[in-house]
Amino acid sequence: MAPEIADTPAMRQYRRFKELHPDCVLFFRMGDFYEMFYDDARLAHRVLGVTLTQRTQGIPMAGVPYHSVENYLRRMIQAGHRVAVCEQVEDPKMAKGVVRRDVTRVITPGTLTDESLLEDHRENPLAAVMFHGAGGGEEAAKRADITPAKTPQTASLAWAELSTGSFWLTTLPVDALGDELARISPRELLYVEPANRQPPPRVAQLLIGAGFSATARPAWQFRPQEAFETLCRQFGVKGLAGFGLADDDPALGVAAAIVSYLVETQCAQTDRESLPTTNSGASATSPTLPRQPTSLAHLQPPRRFQRHDHLIIDQTSLRSLEIEQTIRGNASEGTLLGVLLSGGDCRTSMGKRMLRQWLCYPLCQLEPIMARQRVVGALIEDTRLLDALRLLLDEIQDVERIAARVSVGRALPRDVVAMGRSCDQAQKLAALLADRPAMAGYHQQLADVADPLAELGQTLLAACVDEPPSHLRDGGLFRDGFDEQLDEYRGLQRDSQTWLSQYQQSLIQSTGIANLKVGFNRVFGYYIELTAAQRDRAPADWTRKQTLKNAERFITQALKEYEVKVLSAGERAKAREQELFAALCQRVCEHTAALRTLAHTAATMDVLACFARRAVRCRYVKPQMVSEPVLNIEAGRHPVLDVILGDQFVPNDLQLGTTGNSDSDGASAAQSPATLALITGPNMAGKSTFIRQAALITLLAHTGSYVPATAATVGLCDRIFTRIGASDELHAGASTFMVEMTETANICHYATDRSLVILDEIGRGTSTLDGLSLAWSIAEHLAQRRPRTLFATHYHEVTQLAQACDNVTNLHVTVREWADQIVFLHRVLPGSTDRSYGIHVARIAGLPGNVVSRANELLSQLSVNYDISTSSSQVAKAAAHVEANQQMSLFTQYLEHPSLEQIRAVDLDALTPMAAFDLLRQVKRDMR
Ligand code: ADP
Repeated sequence: MAPEIADTPAMRQYRRFKELHPDCVLFFRMGDFYEMFYDDARLAHRVLGVTLTQRTQGIPMAGVPYHSVENYLRRMIQAGHRVAVCEQVEDPKMAKGVVRRDVTRVITPGTLTDESLLEDHRENPLAAVMFHGAGGGEEAAKRADITPAKTPQTASLAWAELSTGSFWLTTLPVDALGDELARISPRELLYVEPANRQPPPRVAQLLIGAGFSATARPAWQFRPQEAFETLCRQFGVKGLAGFGLADDDPALGVAAAIVSYLVETQCAQTDRESLPTTNSGASATSPTLPRQPTSLAHLQPPRRFQRHDHLIIDQTSLRSLEIEQTIRGNASEGTLLGVLLSGGDCRTSMGKRMLRQWLCYPLCQLEPIMARQRVVGALIEDTRLLDALRLLLDEIQDVERIAARVSVGRALPRDVVAMGRSCDQAQKLAALLADRPAMAGYHQQLADVADPLAELGQTLLAACVDEPPSHLRDGGLFRDGFDEQLDEYRGLQRDSQTWLSQYQQSLIQSTGIANLKVGFNRVFGYYIELTAAQRDRAPADWTRKQTLKNAERFITQALKEYEVKVLSAGERAKAREQELFAALCQRVCEHTAALRTLAHTAATMDVLACFARRAVRCRYVKPQMVSEPVLNIEAGRHPVLDVILGDQFVPNDLQLGTTGNSDSDGASAAQSPATLALITGPNMAGKSTFIRQAALITLLAHTGSYVPATAATVGLCDRIFTRIGASDELHAGASTFMVEMTETANICHYATDRSLVILDEIGRGTSTLDGLSLAWSIAEHLAQRRPRTLFATHYHEVTQLAQACDNVTNLHVTVREWADQIVFLHRVLPGSTDRSYGIHVARIAGLPGNVVSRANELLSQLSVNYDISTSSSQVAKAAAHVEANQQMSLFTQYLEHPSLEQIRAVDLDALTPMAAFDLLRQVKRDMR
């Protein structure tokens, strides 16, 4: 269809909608295309690769066909843009003047519900942030008339998942904000719009390296009074105490901003009633219309999130332990989550999303962890139960997201059928979990809702055909016999030929005109035709309709009525299907809470079954969880490398801390248990692998999973800290060393005797002497604070600390030298090593032969001159018995003699022979 552009009425309409949605790319429906104009067209050309054309008056224009719009929407959203979809809301054939249009959806990265726009195994949260107290947010807070929270430097954060309905809020220290956002991993962040319309510095900082976009929202939406009212209105309450929230909770503003945004984007139509209720031309060609009425019924009231209810894993640890993304490449393959998801152990999308949640928010209390372990244990013991459970889970679709789509009016026919089939499984799942003590809690929750869900399932399945159409507009979702009216309309369409021949027969009989015909013509509709010779035999109640050369056409009242019925039957059937669909969706909405229980139980059982399968397949063992700060691992393996290397992976032991009962064997009673292990060994020996594996085993144990080892005792942790490798690309503007020290400072401040600390190569980013000093003092500090610590270092000298602190132990990763080669054994043993083998590793890495031999030459010279290893160990032996400041003598061998600096500073041109002689005498004296 030729687009109506330039300064046409359609273009004026376009500009009006663009003004209403200035931050969105406007997809403007014109016939079979969605057109974009001006800058939007240029953007579409860049992002979607569609052709940029120029039409009348040189207006840039680009279009995408309506039938594949979802694909283009997805790409726009993935590129971080917001889209407003402007539909034709009346049949263009019926339109008087320009076709009526309206924005029916505003799609933003954080407000997706459509299956085609979402990744099934990832959540898609929307977050909102607001700063309290000094710095960053005051100006905006003033505009929003917000009283800063009592503690300065705090922020409020809320996040909701529209595609499932979960909703959280919290107030936390500003410096914990980045860590929480990393765990939440939102797709979009709302913030108070400042007067200058630029993101405030603190928001801008959060965006560096983050995978989400930020959207400014009007300050008034965050104001306490408006926020309170918005929340009360949304959840139909007079106060928020029922949700455990004070009416003046500082986080209400962010929660309300989320609600307002969701309402605005999901109910974007300015004139909802204007949508066609019958199958007009617009709905016949539109992939999105008609919509069911929108509510946010599935959105749960916000719940308060307490950081300390979970094991805290900060942003750095999440990344450096490669829990869901690899450090290099940001891939999911090769991560802990990736490995757990591979092999099909997790059956449902809901389970996959929950697994990610469990890894990012591990538990930190004994009983809930052990409750999960009991279910895993029961499933391992009863493999028939495990198999039956997995088969049953295969029948349960993404109930959580379907319920959300129903609630926001975006459900498709296949959603309702999938929902019906899934609900039908609730009773079976409840029966499977019955009479098993480990699963009693899950069974009980499900048993309470299984019957109503089964009823709902049967209703849905009785109503809908087994193979539903892709879109409601195609018709044919409901079974014959389900609804009398629909059957009648369908009957009229299907049986019109039979009816017409029967009618013709009855007329022949009543008139006695044997060659009378009943026919149909597109222009004139139904008619009774008599030959010209018989025209006078027409009964008086027939109305003349058309005169032809050899024939006369008539119409009767009965035929007229039939015509109206048949011609509108198709339209009516579709309209009736829409009514019935809306009613079914309403039924589904009434079961929102029960569906949530089904979704939650199915997802939980799925993850636990995944743990059980993994334990069986990969020889994982149940870790003994204790409250003492201990970490004992026998033959532990790295969960990811274990899969990649298989039998080639060398398992290793670790013992940190002690449980109360370890004295009973008498072995460790005499000495204080080590809380800090210093791990030395050449590069590539396996130090990083060893320390990461300890962290990953600890983390897995806190999720209720079994762990890759032959035995493990894991004491509860409050937090896992890591400082591994360089990640300066994450922190634009800060040097590698600065990043390293910032992260280490964080550990020194916050690690407690219940934390686990993993440090890899501290001090690498600065000079040897600085680095060694820092590594030493940091190790010493952590030894005093007593978090369980694994400290991999290439500064062998630090291992002398074990002689000074009885809770420090040395471990080293062994290598074997063989015919001028080294073989990495990857075995971790007690004691330290004093060689780096750096040059060997460089040779393996392919450094040219001449460079390698020159390095060897230099090394032997340096070793003769400085005799690093002997002198350091001699000094260290002494140092182990003296105070910390005397230990500094360890490092003096690296100091440049001060006389050198003195000589460098001399200006020879200005030096008299006498002064030169004096200087020489002084230097000689100083060197003694
Ligand atoms: P380092 O930190 O000492 O430089 P890494 O831990 O990075 O060494 O390990 C280097 C490589 O050695 C790994 O990529 C892995 O292929 C192999 N490796 C490490 N630990 C083991 C192990 N326990 N068993 C088998 N291979 C290992």
